[in-house]
Amino acid sequence: MNLALWLERAGRAHPSVPAIGLGDKVYADYAQLAERAARIAGGLRVFGLRPGERVALVAKNHPDYIAILFGIWHAGLAAVPANAKLHGAELGYILEHSGARICFASAGLDAEIAPHAPPTLERLIVIGSAEYERLLTADAIPPQPRAGGDLAWLFYTSGTTGRPKGAMLTHRNLMWAAHAYLADVDPTLPRDPILHAAPLSHGTGIYVLPHIARLGVNVVPETGAFEPEEIFRLFRRWPRVSMFAAPTMIKRLVDSRAESDPDNIRTLIWGGAPMYVEDVKKALDRFGPRLAQIYGQGESPMTITTLSREDVADRGHPRWLDRVGSAGRPYACVEVMVADADDRPLPPGEIGEILCRGDVIMAGYWQNPDATAKTLAGGWLHTGDVGAFDADGYLSLKDRSKDLIISGGSNIYPREVEEVLLQHENVREVSVIGRPDAEWGEVVVAYVVGEATPGELDQLCLSQIARFKRPKHYVFVDALPKNNYGKILKTALRELDAARRENVYG
Ligand code: AMP
Repeated sequence: MNLALWLERAGRAHPSVPAIGLGDKVYADYAQLAERAARIAGGLRVFGLRPGERVALVAKNHPDYIAILFGIWHAGLAAVPANAKLHGAELGYILEHSGARICFASAGLDAEIAPHAPPTLERLIVIGSAEYERLLTADAIPPQPRAGGDLAWLFYTSGTTGRPKGAMLTHRNLMWAAHAYLADVDPTLPRDPILHAAPLSHGTGIYVLPHIARLGVNVVPETGAFEPEEIFRLFRRWPRVSMFAAPTMIKRLVDSRAESDPDNIRTLIWGGAPMYVEDVKKALDRFGPRLAQIYGQGESPMTITTLSREDVADRGHPRWLDRVGSAGRPYACVEVMVADADDRPLPPGEIGEILCRGDVIMAGYWQNPDATAKTLAGGWLHTGDVGAFDADGYLSLKDRSKDLIISGGSNIYPREVEEVLLQHENVREVSVIGRPDAEWGEVVVAYVVGEATPGELDQLCLSQIARFKRPKHYVFVDALPKNNYGKILKTALRELDAARRENVYG
């Protein structure tokens, strides 16, 4: 079944229900949104695209983003949403690799893309241009038939480890992801809003779908930037609002002095990176029992485990600290196993790679059979993440295997050390890495944003973790390297650390 049917039906049955919000205002109702998508689909016909061909969408969060996405599906084509903040050369790679002949782009981004556009790209349609407006006046067509296993969204991974790979998400995958959200994260009622403050090309874009299925309102902020003042204002404007945010964004809201009233918030969902327990506590103090966590990846879109609002808020539970430090329990629709090197299940408490299986898992990587075979070996998605279940079935994520520090033969998980350092009241951010060392193999180095002395930090570590885990060196910096989604890039930090040492000692 084609996902586009959700919008087409909503447009017919509930034409006047608000569908898209732009800042404070209702931008389109379901009739208008459905009509736009059907016209875009009709307009795309002139390019003679075959069913399943890819159409790229390189745009900042724009109120027409969702009409274009659904227009592409409506036409029986596959969408390639790419992060608008990427460099032109990175976008050029995605355009070439996906083989997209048509690309929608926000005004201004066309200049960034054009010098890197591959020869396969035939048309760059700027949103809001005369050509785009003409598309919107094309005759609407009926939704084209699609099977559940057909490609819907080519999801380029954020590339924290080299070239991005295109995870092939099918209509069926996305339907499961949408239902999983409604069942396990955030029961949504008609007219419930969701605020898309993070890029729609990534995680929050997946949450468009349950909100279309349930007749919710997808709201985009007016300014492209993440401004706590504006976010809080929009929370006040849209009662029962939910929002997905990276932990760094939640932290900015918590630290902001902007006037805020959490009562309107339905659920604040964090994910994409770990949120430290100290930060969860502060967020709970500010927002109350309205926080939930998701753990997923492009290959299993936002859907591996989830920590419910109830679990996050249950401060009286004897194992609450462990639970809020975990990534929660598996979603109903997916099997999750912690496995040894031979893909055999490990008992609770033992650390291994996280594998998952189910209808939400990608069909494979676009044009990359080797990576597909490796990642989906034996029918299980090999996430590359490392973790352990506890006896109650909660999954604790350790660091990615390549971030693990091995010092003097002992394994040290950076996150454990980071959790401790963050308890210092003047430490704002921290990232712990391993530095190659002739004697120890690696030594622990902490990069710290904040005001503290190495002595104070050492004391903190000595009071809570084994001696061998405490950093040998502290480096105080103004900021940590992050990617466009606000994730700290340990690979970049390790390179920076190596370069720094060369400068100092070379
Ligand atoms: P991406 O595919 O770019 O969304 O990156 C997915 C990766 O982000 C996962 O494989 C994890 O390593 C990390 N990640 C996602 N959600 C969480 C979470 N809730 N806690 C810790 N790490 C996470």
